[in-house]
Amino acid sequence: MILEYDVGDEKVFLIRRLIEVRFRKDTYEKLLKKYPKEYIIQFAEEKKVLHHATKRSLFYITSESQIPLLGHAAFGLIDRGTNLIQVRPITGCNLNCIFCSVDEGRGSRTKKNDYIIDPDYLLEEYRKIAEFKGRRVEAHIDGQAEPFLYPYIEKLIHGLKKIKETETVSIQTNGTVISEDMIDRLDRSLDRVNLSISALDGELAEKIYGVRYPLNKVVEIAEYIASSRIDLLIAPVWLPGINDEEIPRIIEFALEIGAGKRWPALGIQKYIHYRGGRKLRHGMSFRSFYSKLREWEDEYGVRLVLSPKDFGIEKRPRYPSPIKKGEVHFARIALDGRSYGERIAVVKGRTVTVLTSRKPGSGVRFVITRAKDGIYLGEEV
Ligand code: SF4
Repeated sequence: MILEYDVGDEKVFLIRRLIEVRFRKDTYEKLLKKYPKEYIIQFAEEKKVLHHATKRSLFYITSESQIPLLGHAAFGLIDRGTNLIQVRPITGCNLNCIFCSVDEGRGSRTKKNDYIIDPDYLLEEYRKIAEFKGRRVEAHIDGQAEPFLYPYIEKLIHGLKKIKETETVSIQTNGTVISEDMIDRLDRSLDRVNLSISALDGELAEKIYGVRYPLNKVVEIAEYIASSRIDLLIAPVWLPGINDEEIPRIIEFALEIGAGKRWPALGIQKYIHYRGGRKLRHGMSFRSFYSKLREWEDEYGVRLVLSPKDFGIEKRPRYPSPIKKGEVHFARIALDGRSYGERIAVVKGRTVTVLTSRKPGSGVRFVITRAKDGIYLGEEV
Protein backbone atom coordinates (compact mmCIF):
# COMPACT_ATOMS: atom_id res chain seq x y z
CA MET A 1 0.00 0.00 0.00
CA ILE A 2 2.83 2.42 -0.87
CA LEU A 3 2.33 4.97 -3.64
CA GLU A 4 5.38 6.68 -5.05
CA TYR A 5 5.49 10.04 -6.86
CA ASP A 6 7.49 13.25 -7.33
CA VAL A 7 6.51 16.74 -6.20
CA GLY A 8 8.95 19.43 -7.39
CA ASP A 9 12.39 18.44 -6.11
CA GLU A 10 10.95 15.95 -3.62
CA LYS A 11 10.42 12.20 -3.78
CA VAL A 12 7.19 11.26 -2.00
CA PHE A 13 6.03 7.90 -0.66
CA LEU A 14 2.43 7.68 0.49
CA ILE A 15 1.87 4.83 2.93
CA ARG A 16 -1.65 3.54 3.64
CA ARG A 17 -3.13 6.71 2.11
CA LEU A 18 -2.11 8.78 5.13
CA ILE A 19 1.59 8.78 5.98
CA GLU A 20 3.62 10.89 3.58
CA VAL A 21 7.37 10.26 3.67
CA ARG A 22 9.32 12.90 1.74
CA PHE A 23 12.97 13.14 0.69
CA ARG A 24 14.90 15.64 -1.38
CA LYS A 25 15.30 13.82 -4.68
CA ASP A 26 19.10 14.14 -4.77
CA THR A 27 19.40 12.86 -1.18
CA TYR A 28 17.10 9.93 -1.94
CA GLU A 29 19.10 8.98 -5.04
CA LYS A 30 22.34 9.01 -3.06
CA LEU A 31 20.79 6.81 -0.36
CA LEU A 32 19.45 4.43 -2.99
CA LYS A 33 23.00 3.59 -4.06
CA LYS A 34 23.65 2.16 -0.58
CA TYR A 35 20.31 0.89 0.79
CA PRO A 36 17.08 -0.76 -0.39
CA LYS A 37 14.02 1.49 -0.76
CA GLU A 38 12.07 0.00 2.20
CA TYR A 39 15.04 0.51 4.50
CA ILE A 40 15.38 4.16 3.42
CA ILE A 41 11.67 4.88 3.96
CA GLN A 42 11.76 3.39 7.42
CA PHE A 43 15.13 4.36 8.83
CA ALA A 44 16.79 7.18 6.90
CA GLU A 45 17.01 10.28 9.06
CA GLU A 46 16.87 12.69 6.12
CA LYS A 47 13.14 12.14 5.67
CA LYS A 48 10.18 14.36 6.50
CA VAL A 49 7.04 12.54 7.65
CA LEU A 50 3.76 14.36 7.05
CA HIS A 51 0.03 13.78 7.56
CA HIS A 52 -1.28 13.50 4.01
CA ALA A 53 -4.52 15.42 4.71
CA THR A 54 -3.13 18.28 6.80
CA LYS A 55 0.50 18.39 5.54
CA ARG A 56 1.68 18.84 9.12
CA SER A 57 4.55 16.86 10.64
CA LEU A 58 3.33 13.49 11.83
CA PHE A 59 4.83 11.78 14.90
CA TYR A 60 4.47 8.03 15.19
CA ILE A 61 3.90 7.02 18.82
CA THR A 62 4.85 3.47 19.76
CA SER A 63 5.52 1.79 23.11
CA GLU A 64 9.26 2.17 22.36
CA SER A 65 8.81 5.94 22.01
CA GLN A 66 7.99 6.03 25.74
CA ILE A 67 5.28 8.63 25.19
CA PRO A 68 2.42 7.69 27.53
CA LEU A 69 -1.09 7.56 26.10
CA LEU A 70 -2.69 9.19 29.12
CA GLY A 71 -2.54 12.92 29.69
CA HIS A 72 -2.98 14.56 26.29
CA ALA A 73 -6.28 15.89 24.95
CA ALA A 74 -5.52 15.18 21.30
CA PHE A 75 -4.22 11.59 21.27
CA GLY A 76 -4.29 8.45 23.36
CA LEU A 77 -6.94 7.62 25.94
CA ILE A 78 -9.20 9.83 28.04
CA ASP A 79 -11.12 8.75 31.13
CA ARG A 80 -13.65 11.27 32.40
CA GLY A 81 -14.84 9.15 35.34
CA THR A 82 -17.49 7.04 33.57
CA ASN A 83 -17.72 3.66 31.85
CA LEU A 84 -16.85 5.36 28.54
CA ILE A 85 -13.21 5.53 27.48
CA GLN A 86 -12.35 7.94 24.68
CA VAL A 87 -9.89 6.40 22.25
CA ARG A 88 -7.96 8.87 20.09
CA PRO A 89 -5.71 7.03 17.63
CA ILE A 90 -4.79 9.93 15.36
CA THR A 91 -5.02 13.68 14.92
CA GLY A 92 -5.73 15.61 11.72
CA CYS A 93 -8.90 16.02 9.69
CA ASN A 94 -9.71 16.14 5.98
CA LEU A 95 -12.47 18.75 6.47
CA ASN A 96 -12.19 22.35 7.53
CA CYS A 97 -15.53 23.00 9.26
CA ILE A 98 -16.30 26.64 9.93
CA PHE A 99 -17.49 25.67 13.42
CA CYS A 100 -14.65 23.28 14.35
CA SER A 101 -14.14 23.44 18.11
CA VAL A 102 -10.52 22.31 17.80
CA ASP A 103 -9.52 24.34 14.74
CA GLU A 104 -8.72 21.24 12.66
CA GLY A 105 -8.10 20.72 8.96
CA ARG A 106 -5.58 22.10 6.54
CA GLY A 107 -6.82 25.65 7.22
CA SER A 108 -5.93 25.46 10.91
CA ARG A 109 -4.09 28.46 12.25
CA THR A 110 -3.17 26.96 15.60
CA LYS A 111 -2.19 23.34 15.00
CA LYS A 112 1.44 22.58 14.26
CA ASN A 113 1.87 18.80 14.47
CA ASP A 114 -0.09 15.57 14.15
CA TYR A 115 0.28 12.23 15.94
CA ILE A 116 -0.53 8.66 15.09
CA ILE A 117 -0.44 5.81 17.59
CA ASP A 118 0.67 2.27 16.98
CA PRO A 119 -2.51 0.15 17.25
CA ASP A 120 -0.92 -2.58 19.43
CA TYR A 121 0.29 0.04 21.92
CA LEU A 122 -3.13 1.71 21.98
CA LEU A 123 -4.94 -1.59 22.56
CA GLU A 124 -2.52 -2.64 25.29
CA GLU A 125 -3.04 0.63 27.18
CA TYR A 126 -6.81 0.60 26.61
CA ARG A 127 -6.97 -2.90 28.10
CA LYS A 128 -5.40 -1.66 31.37
CA ILE A 129 -8.03 1.06 31.80
CA ALA A 130 -10.90 -1.19 30.73
CA GLU A 131 -9.82 -3.83 33.29
CA PHE A 132 -9.74 -1.12 35.96
CA LYS A 133 -13.24 0.09 34.97
CA GLY A 134 -14.82 -3.37 34.98
CA ARG A 135 -17.77 -4.63 32.97
CA ARG A 136 -19.86 -2.83 30.32
CA VAL A 137 -17.28 -0.37 29.04
CA GLU A 138 -17.86 1.70 25.91
CA ALA A 139 -14.81 2.36 23.74
CA HIS A 140 -15.61 5.59 21.92
CA ILE A 141 -13.24 6.46 19.09
CA ASP A 142 -13.14 10.19 18.49
CA GLY A 143 -10.64 13.00 18.59
CA GLN A 144 -9.28 16.10 17.00
CA ALA A 145 -9.42 14.18 13.74
CA GLU A 146 -11.40 12.14 11.28
CA PRO A 147 -10.84 8.71 12.89
CA PHE A 148 -11.40 6.79 9.65
CA LEU A 149 -8.20 8.37 8.30
CA TYR A 150 -6.37 6.14 10.80
CA PRO A 151 -4.79 3.47 8.60
CA TYR A 152 -5.29 0.77 11.25
CA ILE A 153 -8.88 1.66 12.11
CA GLU A 154 -10.28 -1.80 11.35
CA LYS A 155 -7.60 -3.53 13.42
CA LEU A 156 -8.30 -1.10 16.26
CA ILE A 157 -12.07 -1.63 16.20
CA HIS A 158 -11.79 -5.43 16.10
CA GLY A 159 -9.15 -5.33 18.85
CA LEU A 160 -11.25 -3.12 21.14
CA LYS A 161 -14.27 -5.36 20.72
CA LYS A 162 -12.26 -8.47 21.66
CA ILE A 163 -11.31 -7.04 25.06
CA LYS A 164 -13.74 -8.66 27.45
CA GLU A 165 -14.73 -5.50 29.38
CA THR A 166 -15.81 -3.78 26.15
CA GLU A 167 -19.53 -3.93 25.62
CA THR A 168 -19.83 -1.24 22.95
CA VAL A 169 -17.50 0.16 20.32
CA SER A 170 -18.67 3.46 18.88
CA ILE A 171 -17.03 5.98 16.58
CA GLN A 172 -17.42 9.61 15.65
CA THR A 173 -16.97 10.37 11.94
CA ASN A 174 -17.68 12.88 9.20
CA GLY A 175 -18.39 9.91 6.89
CA THR A 176 -16.33 11.12 3.95
CA VAL A 177 -13.78 8.31 3.84
CA ILE A 178 -15.88 5.26 4.80
CA SER A 179 -16.70 2.62 2.19
CA GLU A 180 -19.46 0.02 2.14
CA ASP A 181 -16.81 -2.75 2.20
CA MET A 182 -15.40 -1.32 5.40
CA ILE A 183 -18.85 -1.35 6.99
CA ASP A 184 -19.28 -5.00 5.94
CA ARG A 185 -15.93 -5.90 7.49
CA LEU A 186 -16.76 -4.05 10.73
CA ASP A 187 -20.28 -5.42 11.03
CA ARG A 188 -19.50 -7.74 13.99
CA SER A 189 -17.24 -5.39 15.96
CA LEU A 190 -18.55 -1.86 15.54
CA ASP A 191 -21.79 -1.08 17.38
CA ARG A 192 -22.58 2.54 16.62
CA VAL A 193 -21.49 5.24 14.20
CA ASN A 194 -22.07 8.87 15.24
CA LEU A 195 -22.17 10.54 11.86
CA SER A 196 -21.96 14.31 11.64
CA ILE A 197 -24.13 15.70 8.85
CA SER A 198 -24.97 19.37 9.29
CA ALA A 199 -26.56 20.12 5.90
CA LEU A 200 -28.32 18.19 3.15
CA ASP A 201 -28.06 21.06 0.71
CA GLY A 202 -24.88 20.60 -1.36
CA GLU A 203 -23.89 24.25 -1.61
CA LEU A 204 -24.46 24.95 2.04
CA ALA A 205 -22.59 21.78 3.02
CA GLU A 206 -19.50 22.98 1.13
CA LYS A 207 -19.72 26.32 2.90
CA ILE A 208 -20.02 24.65 6.30
CA TYR A 209 -17.30 22.04 5.75
CA GLY A 210 -14.88 24.41 4.03
CA VAL A 211 -13.81 21.87 1.37
CA ARG A 212 -15.24 20.12 -1.69
CA TYR A 213 -17.64 17.87 0.22
CA PRO A 214 -18.92 14.53 -1.13
CA LEU A 215 -22.53 14.94 0.09
CA ASN A 216 -23.99 12.11 -2.01
CA LYS A 217 -21.35 9.71 -0.79
CA VAL A 218 -22.04 10.61 2.85
CA VAL A 219 -25.80 10.26 2.35
CA GLU A 220 -25.32 6.85 0.73
CA ILE A 221 -23.02 5.62 3.48
CA ALA A 222 -25.55 6.80 6.10
CA GLU A 223 -28.24 4.70 4.40
CA TYR A 224 -25.89 1.74 4.16
CA ILE A 225 -24.94 1.89 7.85
CA ALA A 226 -28.59 2.22 8.86
CA SER A 227 -29.40 -0.93 6.91
CA SER A 228 -26.57 -2.92 8.54
CA ARG A 229 -26.30 -4.39 12.05
CA ILE A 230 -24.38 -1.26 13.12
CA ASP A 231 -26.50 1.47 14.67
CA LEU A 232 -26.45 4.97 13.27
CA LEU A 233 -26.78 8.23 15.15
CA ILE A 234 -26.86 11.38 13.06
CA ALA A 235 -25.20 14.28 14.84
CA PRO A 236 -25.69 17.66 13.18
CA VAL A 237 -24.27 20.82 14.67
CA TRP A 238 -26.91 23.54 14.69
CA LEU A 239 -25.30 26.76 13.49
CA PRO A 240 -27.74 29.62 14.14
CA GLY A 241 -28.39 31.76 11.08
CA ILE A 242 -26.60 29.23 8.84
CA ASN A 243 -28.28 25.82 8.83
CA ASP A 244 -31.54 26.45 10.75
CA GLU A 245 -33.63 25.09 7.89
CA GLU A 246 -31.44 22.03 7.49
CA ILE A 247 -32.07 20.62 10.98
CA PRO A 248 -35.71 19.56 10.33
CA ARG A 249 -34.60 18.05 6.99
CA ILE A 250 -31.88 16.08 8.79
CA ILE A 251 -34.37 14.84 11.42
CA GLU A 252 -36.68 13.62 8.63
CA PHE A 253 -33.76 11.99 6.82
CA ALA A 254 -32.56 10.15 9.96
CA LEU A 255 -36.06 8.81 10.65
CA GLU A 256 -36.65 7.86 7.04
CA ILE A 257 -33.48 5.75 6.73
CA GLY A 258 -33.97 4.00 10.09
CA ALA A 259 -31.21 5.56 12.20
CA GLY A 260 -31.42 4.81 15.94
CA LYS A 261 -32.10 1.08 16.19
CA ARG A 262 -30.79 0.71 19.75
CA TRP A 263 -29.63 4.22 20.69
CA PRO A 264 -31.19 7.59 19.81
CA ALA A 265 -31.42 8.38 16.10
CA LEU A 266 -30.21 11.95 16.48
CA GLY A 267 -27.79 13.85 18.63
CA ILE A 268 -28.29 17.50 17.66
CA GLN A 269 -25.41 19.54 19.02
CA LYS A 270 -25.43 23.17 19.96
CA TYR A 271 -22.68 25.28 18.41
CA ILE A 272 -20.42 26.46 21.22
CA HIS A 273 -17.36 28.60 20.77
CA TYR A 274 -14.45 27.01 22.64
CA ARG A 275 -11.14 28.71 23.29
CA GLY A 276 -8.88 27.75 20.40
CA GLY A 277 -11.87 26.75 18.23
CA ARG A 278 -13.43 28.61 15.29
CA LYS A 279 -15.79 31.43 16.04
CA LEU A 280 -19.09 32.12 14.29
CA ARG A 281 -20.90 35.42 14.36
CA HIS A 282 -24.16 34.13 15.84
CA GLY A 283 -24.71 32.09 18.96
CA MET A 284 -27.79 30.80 20.76
CA SER A 285 -28.76 30.45 24.40
CA PHE A 286 -29.15 26.97 25.91
CA ARG A 287 -32.73 27.87 26.74
CA SER A 288 -33.67 28.61 23.09
CA PHE A 289 -31.78 25.53 21.95
CA TYR A 290 -33.57 23.11 24.26
CA SER A 291 -36.96 24.73 23.76
CA LYS A 292 -36.64 24.26 19.98
CA LEU A 293 -35.50 20.65 20.46
CA ARG A 294 -38.63 20.00 22.58
CA GLU A 295 -40.82 21.52 19.85
CA TRP A 296 -39.23 19.22 17.27
CA GLU A 297 -39.63 16.25 19.63
CA ASP A 298 -43.39 16.85 19.64
CA GLU A 299 -43.55 17.47 15.92
CA TYR A 300 -41.53 14.40 14.87
CA GLY A 301 -42.18 12.04 17.79
CA VAL A 302 -38.46 11.46 18.37
CA ARG A 303 -36.24 12.02 21.41
CA LEU A 304 -33.85 14.91 20.89
CA VAL A 305 -33.05 16.12 24.42
CA LEU A 306 -30.61 13.44 25.50
CA SER A 307 -28.64 12.55 28.60
CA PRO A 308 -25.69 10.17 29.19
CA LYS A 309 -28.25 7.58 30.41
CA ASP A 310 -29.63 7.29 26.86
CA PHE A 311 -26.25 5.80 25.95
CA GLY A 312 -25.85 3.63 29.06
CA ILE A 313 -23.13 5.94 30.41
CA GLU A 314 -22.73 5.83 34.19
CA LYS A 315 -20.22 7.10 36.73
CA ARG A 316 -17.24 4.84 37.51
CA PRO A 317 -14.06 5.38 39.54
CA ARG A 318 -11.40 7.33 37.67
CA TYR A 319 -8.13 5.73 36.66
CA PRO A 320 -5.56 7.05 39.18
CA SER A 321 -4.16 10.46 38.34
CA PRO A 322 -0.65 10.89 39.77
CA ILE A 323 -0.28 14.62 38.94
CA LYS A 324 -2.00 17.44 40.81
CA LYS A 325 -2.71 21.04 39.90
CA GLY A 326 -0.17 23.45 41.41
CA GLU A 327 2.70 20.92 41.52
CA VAL A 328 6.02 22.00 40.03
CA HIS A 329 7.97 19.49 37.92
CA PHE A 330 11.16 19.40 35.95
CA ALA A 331 11.25 17.19 32.86
CA ARG A 332 12.89 16.77 29.48
CA ILE A 333 10.80 17.87 26.49
CA ALA A 334 10.08 14.61 24.70
CA LEU A 335 8.26 15.88 21.61
CA ASP A 336 7.13 19.01 19.87
CA GLY A 337 3.55 19.98 20.80
CA ARG A 338 0.24 19.86 19.04
CA SER A 339 -0.13 23.66 18.75
CA TYR A 340 2.35 26.48 18.33
CA GLY A 341 4.00 27.33 21.66
CA GLU A 342 3.36 23.86 23.11
CA ARG A 343 5.72 20.99 23.88
CA ILE A 344 5.15 17.54 25.32
CA ALA A 345 6.90 16.36 28.48
CA VAL A 346 6.54 13.10 30.40
CA VAL A 347 5.93 13.05 34.16
CA LYS A 348 5.04 9.98 36.25
CA GLY A 349 3.86 7.99 33.24
CA ARG A 350 1.65 10.77 31.86
CA THR A 351 2.09 13.28 29.03
CA VAL A 352 1.92 16.92 29.99
CA THR A 353 1.44 19.72 27.48
CA VAL A 354 3.85 22.46 28.50
CA LEU A 355 3.66 26.04 27.28
CA THR A 356 7.27 26.91 26.52
CA SER A 357 9.50 27.89 23.65
CA ARG A 358 12.33 25.52 24.68
CA LYS A 359 13.41 22.97 22.13
CA PRO A 360 12.61 19.21 22.30
CA GLY A 361 15.43 17.45 24.15
CA SER A 362 16.01 20.28 26.60
CA GLY A 363 14.82 20.38 30.20
CA VAL A 364 12.00 22.60 31.44
CA ARG A 365 10.58 23.46 34.85
CA PHE A 366 6.82 23.99 34.89
CA VAL A 367 3.83 24.35 37.14
CA ILE A 368 0.73 22.24 36.49
CA THR A 369 -2.13 24.60 35.65
CA ARG A 370 -4.70 21.99 34.67
CA ALA A 371 -5.19 18.42 35.85
CA LYS A 372 -8.83 17.77 35.04
CA ASP A 373 -10.06 14.45 33.58
CA GLY A 374 -6.47 13.23 33.50
CA ILE A 375 -5.48 15.89 30.92
CA TYR A 376 -2.48 17.90 32.02
CA LEU A 377 -1.31 21.36 31.13
CA GLY A 378 1.80 23.07 32.47
CA GLU A 379 3.38 26.50 32.17
CA GLU A 380 7.09 27.13 32.29
CA VAL A 381 8.29 28.80 35.51
S1 SF4 B 1 -15.03 17.03 10.90
FE1 SF4 B 1 -14.80 17.48 13.08
S2 SF4 B 1 -12.55 17.58 13.45
FE2 SF4 B 1 -12.91 17.73 11.23
S3 SF4 B 1 -12.88 19.94 10.85
FE3 SF4 B 1 -15.03 19.26 11.10
S4 SF4 B 1 -15.49 19.59 13.26
FE4 SF4 B 1 -13.25 19.67 13.03
